Amino acid sequence: MQTADAIVVGGGPAGSTCAWKLRAAGLEVIVLDRAAFPRTKLCAGWVTPEALRDLELDPGDYPHRFLTFEELHLHWKVLSTKPRTRQHSIRRFEFDDYLLRRADAKVVNHKVRDIHRDNGDYVVDGEFRCKYLVGAGGTACPVYRTFFSERHPRNSGLQTATYEQEFAYDWKDPTCHLWFFDAGLPGYAWYVPKADGYINVGLGGIAEQIKHRNGHLRDHWRDFVGKLKRRGLVRYDAYNPSGYSYYLRGSVDAVSDGNAYIIGDAVGLATRDMCEGIGPAVRSGLLAAHSIVTGEAYSLAGIGTLSGDSFASRLLERSFARAAEAVPGS
Ligand SMILES: Cc1cc2nc3c(=O)[nH]c(=O)nc-3n(C[C@H](O)[C@H](O)[C@H](O)COP(=O)(O)OP(=O)(O)OC[C@H]3O[C@@H](n4cnc5c(N)ncnc54)[C@H](O)[C@@H]3O)c2cc1C
Repeated sequence: MQTADAIVVGGGPAGSTCAWKLRAAGLEVIVLDRAAFPRTKLCAGWVTPEALRDLELDPGDYPHRFLTFEELHLHWKVLSTKPRTRQHSIRRFEFDDYLLRRADAKVVNHKVRDIHRDNGDYVVDGEFRCKYLVGAGGTACPVYRTFFSERHPRNSGLQTATYEQEFAYDWKDPTCHLWFFDAGLPGYAWYVPKADGYINVGLGGIAEQIKHRNGHLRDHWRDFVGKLKRRGLVRYDAYNPSGYSYYLRGSVDAVSDGNAYIIGDAVGLATRDMCEGIGPAVRSGLLAAHSIVTGEAYSLAGIGTLSGDSFASRLLERSFARAAEAVPGS
């Protein structure tokens, strides 16, 4: 049996941030992840300055691909605008591995299946024992499933569906483009260049709304990559996109139970306008670690529900909220 003060299930931004702060406070920490790092994580890789501040990450010290946008190129129907705002892109493959290494915790490649309580401790798969258990396993987090799912069932009206691909590409336009509600998509599509010849293109929206409109992401994808080609943004013919689903922020209040905590996508914390999940995942990791170290209550009050305050942000929030209202508990 391997023992530690705390076990963190999942080594994404939520889990690695929590582990980093617990280690800094002197706790013994094991991070269990079913994937061997560096691992692929479906994500556009847009990171905000706020998230970098929370991570105490100076871009100058970051050793991997890092690109800064001084403006975004936003499109809505025939309108286009270029608001000035400083945002960044990274590759999750590199970023998550960097953060997990920096956490300085013991990392074990292990898929968590069974968790039970024993004399006030948590025992994971009969192999690991701890006093504090942190669920950072994303949408399918086993800590959420075991201790929180009954008290806090997920709201299907807030479930996103996404389709994306990241690949080596010699892009010419170094701006981040976003297309809102394009061709009936109840969400948005993106073109996110990365430093040194990588790019991520994708789209997403509220799953129930897409279904309600008899749409399928595959069809939106075909239209979208056609548009990228016509505009001369990406001329590429070897697409093989993948999908992933996660939850926007609902009225979650059950985030700890005894000494068990959930953070990041395990809670469903992505913003209700831009579906931004990295920043809220990092912030929740900090808050859970603070609670474990100080004994103060763990609350989500310090985590924003929106990424922006633009017209597009409010439109997106309203559009997403309409779908959520149809489902109790949003
Ligand atoms: C297509 C797409 C694009 C996105 N784009 C952006 C963006 O540009 N910017 C942004 O801020 N957010 C974006 N998001 C959201 C963002 O990716 C997530 O909100 C964020 O990764 C959440 O971090 P996390 O640490 O909670 O979970 P994750 O990063 O998902 O990490 C969870 C970890 O848990 C592990 N795990 C799962 N189950 C088990 C188990 N049983 N046992 C052990 N380990 C397990 C997984 O292997 C994984 O490493 C996007 C999401 C998608 C799907």
